[in-house]
Amino acid sequence: MATLLRALQGDITRLAVTAIVNAANSSLLGGGGVDGAIHRAAGPQLLEACRPLGGCNTGEAKLTRGYRLPAQYVIHTVGPIWQGGSRDEAQRLAACYRNVLAIAAREGMPSLAFPCIGTGVYGFPAEQAAQIAVATVRACLPHCPQLEEVLFCCFSSADLERYQRLLSKDPC
Ligand code: ADP
Repeated sequence: MATLLRALQGDITRLAVTAIVNAANSSLLGGGGVDGAIHRAAGPQLLEACRPLGGCNTGEAKLTRGYRLPAQYVIHTVGPIWQGGSRDEAQRLAACYRNVLAIAAREGMPSLAFPCIGTGVYGFPAEQAAQIAVATVRACLPHCPQLEEVLFCCFSSADLERYQRLLSKDPC
C-alpha cells in the first residue's frame, strides 16, 4: 500500500501518531522551539530518558518513548545550523530525515510526524528545507514498507502552503 504524505498546521505535541520527530539540539537535554514544547508535553521522564543517550550528532537520530505525549515514541534528530549553505547543510538536513526513517523502518512504525527541522533558531531557509524534507522522505519510502502515513506538521501557514504545494507536485 502506498504511504500517504500529508501536511497539516498545528502543534506536533498533540498528534497521536506512532512517533513524533523532535528537532533537538546536540545535547538532547531540551531547548526552545519544538524541543521545549515536546519536553513540556512529555513530562520530566523524557529528559531522564535522554540523559543516558549521550547527545546526538548533527544529522543523526535517537529514539525514546513518548511518555505523556499522545505519540508512543519520540525520534530525536539534530538539524544543521545554517551557515550560508556551503557547510554541507543540505546534506546534513537530508541525513536527519533519512536517519529518522531508518529508525521508523527498524521499529516497524506505521505513522510519523515531522516538524520543519532546522527552520527555527537554526535558520535553515524554509523553502529549501521543505524541498529537502519532501524529496528525502519520498526517496526513502521504498525502504519503509511498514509506513502508512507521514505527516509534515507545520507551525506556520506559510510552511503549510509550501508543503501542500510540494506534495501536490509529482516527484521528479
Ligand atoms: P531548529 O533548532 O531545528 O531550527 P526550532 O524548534 O527552532 O528547531 O524550529 C523548528 C520548526 O518547528 C520551526 O518551523 C518552528 O516554527 C516549529 N515549531 C515550534 N514549535 C512547534 C510545535 N509545538 N509544533 C510543531 N512545530 C513547532
